[in-house]
Order: sequence, then structure tokens, then C-alpha cells
Amino acid sequence: MPLIPIDGHTQLVGLIGWPVEHSISPAMHNAAFAELGLNWRYVPLPVPPGRIHVALEGLQALGFRGANVTVPHKQEVAQIIARLPGRETLGPEALALDAVNTIAIPHGETKDGRATLRGHNTDMAGFVGALVDGGFQPVGASSVVVGAGGGARAVAFGLARARARTITVLNRSVERAEDLALALSSTQNTALPPSVRALPLTDKILIDTVREADLLVNATPAGMWPNVRVSIWPDDVPVPGHVTVFDLVYNPRPTKLMEQARAGGANALGGLEMLVRQGALALEMWTGEEAPVAVMRQACQRSLERHGSP
Ligand code: NAP
Repeated sequence: MPLIPIDGHTQLVGLIGWPVEHSISPAMHNAAFAELGLNWRYVPLPVPPGRIHVALEGLQALGFRGANVTVPHKQEVAQIIARLPGRETLGPEALALDAVNTIAIPHGETKDGRATLRGHNTDMAGFVGALVDGGFQPVGASSVVVGAGGGARAVAFGLARARARTITVLNRSVERAEDLALALSSTQNTALPPSVRALPLTDKILIDTVREADLLVNATPAGMWPNVRVSIWPDDVPVPGHVTVFDLVYNPRPTKLMEQARAGGANALGGLEMLVRQGALALEMWTGEEAPVAVMRQACQRSLERHGSP
């Protein structure tokens, strides 16, 4: 179905980040708006570091209905929205992660003409949904998460909430892994807190911890296009066949890590499904409509085939 032509009633959402020009989110959301027959558009909103306060004011002033937020602004947006007047400006996932990837600006809530910002995080549910749908049950699992940035945070908190038994965080700079492990251990949001540890990322530690694990998650950009011959896993060692590997990187498909895992007989899942699911949840928050997930997935696949793949 074609998009409804832009007119005076068109509603706007977009992606705030730096950089954003290679994102496939506009293609994914605009395909969904076309499918739903909604007079909405999703646009890239490049916001350099240091300008996020002004950008959030601008969103409200311009009547945007919401936005996604990506690197490097997720944490700062959470902190700004947490300080706004009103109750529950942050959803429970955004509060737990201290990171916002979805802003909703509901209409009709304003008394003084100012719109209200609500901050959510749909990465966590997107990851767990994609993992379970890919055939892996996190309950009681022993997991290794490589990386300690925004993606790793969503993954680790998602695993904790899904009642994984152990979570080992490996990162190049071990201090960031320790910060994430500390945040995980002190979370109040899980009935059965997992056993958590933080270690530096070295080949030996990675191989030894994965040997004992059920799940390996790559939450670093290693292997992302154009660096497609890079992997967190060393070349000369097979990935144990009993492990499920989840790579947050969605371009290329498959990644080198996924190929290494499949060569050893392991189940390997890519990041595209997580991207689609976090986007679907965001779209449902903005529009109140059920997201056309298959159309969104197809739009992402088409966009990756057209642009970025090697
Ligand atoms: P981020 O906040 O910038 O964190 C990057 C992390 O990766 C840091 O822990 C960093 O380690 C580590 N790192 C970077 N390059 C590395 C390398 N060559 N080898 C080993 N470790 C490396 O980024 P992010 O937002 O978490 O994103 C990470 C990846 O996940 C990106 O590729 C992103 O596209 C993807 N992602 C995908 C989805 C999805 O929906 N599929 C969602 C979120 C993120 P240091 O701390 O030592 O620098």
C-alpha cells in the first residue's frame, strides 16, 4: 500500500542519534504506516552530542508524536525525562536500564500547551522476544554477554528478568563490565537475581566461559558492515556446538560470528529480529495500532539488500 501523501494532518516521529543516516528504521516504520493506512512519517533526526536538551524541546514544540533514540543519547534522554515534573515519566524498563530508546508524546495531556514526554525502553523486550522466538529459553540458562554499552545493558537486564541463572559480562574495558554487573546485582526488579560476574574480554576468558555456558551474546559492533571479517571469536577455535549464539549486529546477515557458530553446529541468531521487535513495540506505543511485524521485517530486509550489505 502506498503512503498517504503528506498534508496538514501528517503526524511525525523520528530517530534521534548521531549518526543516523545509515539507519533502516525509517524504511521499517514508513512501511508500517503505509500498511496501516496511517498519515504518519518517520524521519531521521541527526542530533550531535551536547544538543539533546534542545532537540527534546524542539520535538515538543514541533508537535512530534514521539521518537526513537540511539547512540549516543539513550542515557542522557533517560536522565532528562526522569527529572521532568509529573509521575511515571519513565516506563519500568527505561527506569531499570537508565536508558530510553523510545519517547512517546501523547496528545491531549497538556494543560499549559506543553506536550509531555514519556520515556520507554523496548530494546530489552525486543531482545528477549527474538531470543525466545529463535528457539532459546533463557529461564535457568548460563549466559555470556560480550560488551557493556547500551545494547549489552538491555540484553543483560532482559536475561535477568527472564530468570537466567548466570550472567557473565566480558568487556574490553573491564570497568564498564563491572559497572554493568553492579547495576544488575542491585536491581530490585527480578524475583530470582542471577549470579553475575564481570571479566576482561580476552580470547582465553571468552573460550573458557563459553565452554560452560548455554548462550553467547555479542553486544559489540565487532563484525558490523563494513568490518565484516571481524569477530569477537578467535579464528582457530570452533564455537562449541551446544551453545546458542545471538549477535546483535544485523548487517551483514549472517555475521562472521554467526558463520563460525554454524560451522561448529551451534544455533546462531542475528540482530534483525530484535530491531524489528523493538520497533514494533515503539510503533504500538505511538499509534495504539497493532504493528504489522511481517511488513516491517520485509522492509528492513529490502533496505539492507539495497544499501549496506557487502
Ligand atoms: P555502545 O554503547 O557504543 O557499546 C559498544 C560496546 O562494544 C562497548 O562495550 C565496547 O567496549 C565494545 N566494543 C566496541 N568495539 C569492539 C571491538 N572491536 N571488540 C570488542 N569490543 C568492542 O554500542 P551499543 O549501542 O551497545 O551497540 C553495540 C552493537 O549492538 C552495535 O553494533 C549496534 O548496532 C548493535 N545493537 C543492535 C540492536 C538491535 O536491535 N539489533 C540494538 C542495540 C544495539 P569498550 O567499553 O571497551 O569500548
